[in-house]
Amino acid sequence: MNTLVNKTALVTGGSRGIGAAIVKRLAAEGADVAFTYVSAKDEAEALVKEVESTGRKALALQANAADADAVKGAVDATAAKFGKIDILVNNAGIGIMGALDQLTLDDFDKTFNINVRALFVGIKQAVKYMATGGRIINIGSTNATRMPFEGGAIYAASKAAVQGLTLGLSRDFGPQGITINNLQPGPINTDMNPENGPFADFLRTQLPVGRYAQPDEVAAFTAFLAGPEAGYITGASLNIDGGFKG
Ligand code: NDP
Repeated sequence: MNTLVNKTALVTGGSRGIGAAIVKRLAAEGADVAFTYVSAKDEAEALVKEVESTGRKALALQANAADADAVKGAVDATAAKFGKIDILVNNAGIGIMGALDQLTLDDFDKTFNINVRALFVGIKQAVKYMATGGRIINIGSTNATRMPFEGGAIYAASKAAVQGLTLGLSRDFGPQGITINNLQPGPINTDMNPENGPFADFLRTQLPVGRYAQPDEVAAFTAFLAGPEAGYITGASLNIDGGFKG
């Protein structure tokens, strides 16, 4: 603990699930943390209180990742409140599953706007407030390269795009001493993919460890990548997926 004292962070989609666990873990390491949400106002306000009760600053920002101006506004509001941004975690994401004949152009655009375009917009704005030592962590998915079920084409394509964005930007930011990495979870127990949901038993058959992870496990890896000991890791897509096969 205390690896992130005097650091400030922005986590997108921090009101629930993996994002909320990341907010709490970064704060536990000493960072002040802003986070976005789209609709879960009560959860967001409760999380602000929880973080503040530990002595850290917290800021909840309603900002739809599909709206580029809202994403930019959230970055600016974070910098205005904290004076700088050391860590950006692009976690907000959606998964629209379905057979090709059921999926629409809107499904495609919405997924790419939230899972890919928002990262481009948020990173572009956040680096204006980042100094040497800055950390960008994208939450991709093991489905970028492993897809053991039907109906996940748009989701997989969007997460594969995150790999490319990460790799490309690592070249741009390397000379500035800013790292960017893509953390790729496997099945994590959240509202998006509950460990007692309809697909869970099948997914467990794909997992050498035979279980879902809890959001805290992804948060711990994120905190390491955000910390001082991860400075030589950049442009990487790193799995935290229980050995997921596909
Ligand atoms: P959840 O659905 O449990 O939580 C999603 C979070 O993102 C919420 O805080 C939600 O806000 C926010 N969010 C959703 N849409 C938007 C939007 N348009 N703008 C801003 N915020 C938004 O998801 P998870 O925690 O499971 O997933 C987090 C990330 O991890 C995603 O990128 C997902 O693809 C990835 N992932 C998840 C896996 C899993 O098994 N759970 C596996 C691999 C990757 P609100 O509460 O207001 O709705």
